[in-house]
Amino acid sequence: MTSEELLQIDKKNIWHPFDLVTIDYNILIEKAEGVYLYTPEGRQILDAIGSWWVNIHGHANKYIAEKVSEQLHTLEHVIFAGFTHKPAIQLVKNLLSILPNNQQKVFFSDNGSTATEVAIKMAFQYWYNKGENKPKIIAIEGAYHGDTFGAMSVGGRSKFNEPFAPYLFDVEFIQFPDKKNDSEVIVAFENLAKSGQIAAFIYEPLIQGAAGMRMYTAETLEKLLQIAKQHQIICIADEVMTGFGRTGKLFASLHCQTAPDIMCLSKGITGGTMAMGVTTCTSNIYEAFVSEDIYKIFFHGHSYTGNPLACAAANASFDLLMTDECSRNIERISEANIQFCNKIKSKSWVKDVRSLGTVLAVEFKTESDSSYFNNLRDKLYHYFLNQNILLRPLGNIIYLIPPYIITNEELERIYNAIEGMFDEK
Ligand code: PMP
Repeated sequence: MTSEELLQIDKKNIWHPFDLVTIDYNILIEKAEGVYLYTPEGRQILDAIGSWWVNIHGHANKYIAEKVSEQLHTLEHVIFAGFTHKPAIQLVKNLLSILPNNQQKVFFSDNGSTATEVAIKMAFQYWYNKGENKPKIIAIEGAYHGDTFGAMSVGGRSKFNEPFAPYLFDVEFIQFPDKKNDSEVIVAFENLAKSGQIAAFIYEPLIQGAAGMRMYTAETLEKLLQIAKQHQIICIADEVMTGFGRTGKLFASLHCQTAPDIMCLSKGITGGTMAMGVTTCTSNIYEAFVSEDIYKIFFHGHSYTGNPLACAAANASFDLLMTDECSRNIERISEANIQFCNKIKSKSWVKDVRSLGTVLAVEFKTESDSSYFNNLRDKLYHYFLNQNILLRPLGNIIYLIPPYIITNEELERIYNAIEGMFDEK
């Protein structure tokens, strides 16, 4: 089939996420290597967002491919209820060696939304099993934790989830701590915590991704966590985006002293090769489910739980993440981002520019407020794509979240394109 024939079928029969009627055709990608995506015609597009924040070691990584291929010839899948396998056990050993050391149990699922869904269910059932009534969760305004119902419920209310609003459970939202209001937010959090009604506090540590890579300080998060601990509130760190080195440390939670009780991982866990979700927790959380009473069991399990291929990919990605080369790359990108922030922060077109580790966000000044529906979005998307750079703006905010193997020259090319957009005028 020609590219055109393939695209016609795509247009007719595939329902893509965020399907826009304004898009004529999706871009057909035939192969990928390193930081580049290739169309059948040989167009080379620089993937500056790690294909929706998942890719950390570059596309079609040979080491990961070999490990997955070996696994595929040995054991492709086995039911994970009543059975287990070495790739999962090895992965758990690997993960526990780098997670905060209070994390002791690992539960597998399929993606970021299921990882948070599992965390929310664990927290509610923890209290249920203990016979305590804790009906509420605290979340942060603007949060994004996934697209399933539980995950949507703890996400900020917006146009995205408006059709489902009547079906989402009640959540106490605290304001996003934007430095100006941090002490107010802490007081509001403490007042909620004192109510004795709170089962859990769920948060994206230090960076709210989908809200536009909004960043808040480790000091404020630390204070919230300490208050939560004083009031026996289960702290759930959603590290789906921030995990595996994104913020300069292996996990964003490691920027704080107080460790969460439950952690949600996905995206970078397999290096961006295969779907996998993981929810980890402390022994204390797990013990509430250990009972002679069968009804205290955690009744949750997906068909592909602990899939050996995904585990093999995750173990291979872990090996790469642990190399000195990878740490140096993370530091190098972090440093380059800081320099770029300093370079452009006083430009007339910059509303805000911020970075943490390998994540950089530039918020452009526009007449309307910053929001996903800001009409600068389409202009920005096409401006960069025309230069063969994939950046997917969140409204008037563009962000960089590249594979760690991106070179300084490639970073420079992206930075220049960002500056070029406005400086040309
Ligand atoms: N939590 C966070 C913090 C995320 O950024 C995302 C995805 N962007 C999710 C959860 C949901 O992950 P998935 O898309 O894999 O369901």
